[in-house]
Amino acid sequence: MNLLQATRDVQAKVHALLSGTGHLERDEAAALAGRLREVIEAHNYRYYVLDAPLITDAEYDVLLQALRRLEARFPGLQTPDSPTQRVGGAPLDRFEKVRHPVPMLSLQNAFDFDELRAWYERCRRGLKAALGVEAPPAVTAELKIDGVAVALTYEAGRLVVGATRGNGVEGENVTENVRTIRAIPLRIPVAGGTTADVPARLEVRGEIYIRKSDFEKLNARLAAAGEKTFANPRNAAAGSLRQLDPRVTATRPLSFFAYAVGPVEGTVPPAQYELLAWLRGLGFPTNPHAARFTDLDALLAFCERWAHARDALDYEIDGIVVKVDDFAYQEALGAISNAPRWAVAYKFPAREATTRLLDIVVNVGRTGVIKPEAVLEPVLIGGVTVSQATLHNEEYVLSRDIRIGDVVVVKRAGDVIPQVVRPVVEARTGSERPWRMPERCPACGNPLERLPDEADYYCVASDCPAQFIRLVEHYAGRDAMDIEGLGAKLAVLLVEQGLLHTLADLYTLTLAQLLALEGFAEKRARNLLAAIEASKHRPLSRLVFGLGIRHVGKTVAELLVAHFASLDALAGADVETLEAIEGIGEKIARSVVDWFRVEDNRVLVTRLREVGVNTRRLPGEAPPAPGESPVAGKTFVLTGTLPSLSRKEAEERIKRAGGKVAGSVSKKTDYVVAGESPGSKYDRARALGVEIIDEARLLALLGDADGPPAR
Ligand code: NAD
Repeated sequence: MNLLQATRDVQAKVHALLSGTGHLERDEAAALAGRLREVIEAHNYRYYVLDAPLITDAEYDVLLQALRRLEARFPGLQTPDSPTQRVGGAPLDRFEKVRHPVPMLSLQNAFDFDELRAWYERCRRGLKAALGVEAPPAVTAELKIDGVAVALTYEAGRLVVGATRGNGVEGENVTENVRTIRAIPLRIPVAGGTTADVPARLEVRGEIYIRKSDFEKLNARLAAAGEKTFANPRNAAAGSLRQLDPRVTATRPLSFFAYAVGPVEGTVPPAQYELLAWLRGLGFPTNPHAARFTDLDALLAFCERWAHARDALDYEIDGIVVKVDDFAYQEALGAISNAPRWAVAYKFPAREATTRLLDIVVNVGRTGVIKPEAVLEPVLIGGVTVSQATLHNEEYVLSRDIRIGDVVVVKRAGDVIPQVVRPVVEARTGSERPWRMPERCPACGNPLERLPDEADYYCVASDCPAQFIRLVEHYAGRDAMDIEGLGAKLAVLLVEQGLLHTLADLYTLTLAQLLALEGFAEKRARNLLAAIEASKHRPLSRLVFGLGIRHVGKTVAELLVAHFASLDALAGADVETLEAIEGIGEKIARSVVDWFRVEDNRVLVTRLREVGVNTRRLPGEAPPAPGESPVAGKTFVLTGTLPSLSRKEAEERIKRAGGKVAGSVSKKTDYVVAGESPGSKYDRARALGVEIIDEARLLALLGDADGPPAR
């Protein structure tokens, strides 16, 4: 049986086990544990030796966690060589081996906040028992960098050995490769660093990693050269570090963060948080986001924040490492078989999983845009079953060589639509089929077109029913005409029943027509008619957005309405006039002009007006002319966190009212808007005598100039 199939088999059993639904006899448990060990070992090999994983880390972690639980539930099942008792993978024979004087351990995991709290409680109790400590111990929280752990030994300030973690006891000697990494100092302290004494002998531990941007570039370079690409930045870092030829490593964009020390001859600071600063002083890069906490809730908030903010970083993190801060406390707590008791890795909820891509279908969007969509074998990601995912466009599918039948990595993050990230090429059997964009629209059969400079294909047929259904849905959407009760399903029904041919037909729907539809009782029908009626009075910008003109999103619609007082005025504008508006480029300008050129659209505009839809700018919809607002022409500098507006919102509102936002304070600055924890700009403003205001005052200045549009 192949590894993937074997993995799926144990996954199914494990799922029942972890969700508490499966009852297990000892014999069954022993058999499952044996299979889990085999599967986990096979994945370890792929991961640690080949740098080519078949499954995601989160999926791997679930397997290991299941094995751990089995071993805990049935004492005696555990074997000394179980993957739960060991660290990493065996060092490769290609390299000379290095014995770590102090083993490089793994970390215990916490997969949710309850486990994190339980870990902290264990530490508290342990410290009370060992040292009589009553106060809750401080912890240092660090981002868990997804890279390769290394130990760097310095003698008399010179780098003498660089070793991988290997199996924790023995690693690989990669000194020559490590020397090629610019972030790693060859001599410490570096010029300009600390003047403190450097220990005679010092082992610095940390993570070698690759930035996401560098990873993309590296893979592109490897692909162009016809070489094997890496599955993810972590594998790229490991693979690049373990090159036999250091000249190859030298061409790889490896980075480094230090986070610990091993054996030392000399003195080091007494606690983790200070240690990081000390390492920085010696010349080692350390991650800037470490923080120390004594309040557990604040720690949890930190974890929560990074679980959401991780995508904003240019390197991958897969969790938060929390360490009891005081080294004396760490020593008192000690270690279990393969991990210290004083540290834990809080792992972020899973967002990726592997599954089979069953088919690729294409959908027609409201602007006629044709999007390929993945039909997936249903898979659980972070507690949600995913069976569809976006594939963006043809280029996305082809450049990643995603084929129907492939095992693929699917990512679901936050509110974004799940997407297929990449195929697992290693899992191919040869039966996978490449996909091509169809030549015709699946809904109306008309030929598809790809516009110059655009990644997307479009169905440009004006009578395409699928397009029109999406348009109705969009027109009725909350940000457009906000017709409550008119969603995707009803749009399909109205169009398929022949009640709607253009958007204007919405306004001539009758009670009798609606009552004849399936699922419509009087109340629902009347509510819908009332909602449609109410939509006649929406601000013009919502109508402009609702028309579904390609490239005209909400903000662009608002911009357009700021310059044109009616739909007719906008219809009469030419490309040059539109392009002259700041924020409107040629693409948008052309799209608007083209839209109004289409006869059907002109008729639509006329009909909408005839049925009573507002086609004029409402009072308050337009920004004030420069000079009308106290903000117009004034220069603002923002500092600190404002209580309600985000930095971006504040900037946008100032700009919309005709003001300017500058990055630094000078004599020309009119106002400095200061929020919580303002920076040096605040001091400079005081020094220069620039007026400092708070958010409330800013809002007052913006006041009538930027109030909500009148309804
Ligand atoms: P781990 O990666 O969960 O945690 C220990 C490691 O964390 C340390 O060795 C160090 O490299 C790293 N780390 C990053 N930042 C740190 C910091 N600030 N302080 C301390 N350590 C920090 O433990 P592990 O034993 O290396 O676990 C292996 C990892 O590899 C897991 O994430 C697992 O999912 C993955 N794995 C995946 C597969 C697969 O098939 N997908 C197979 C094997 C292992």
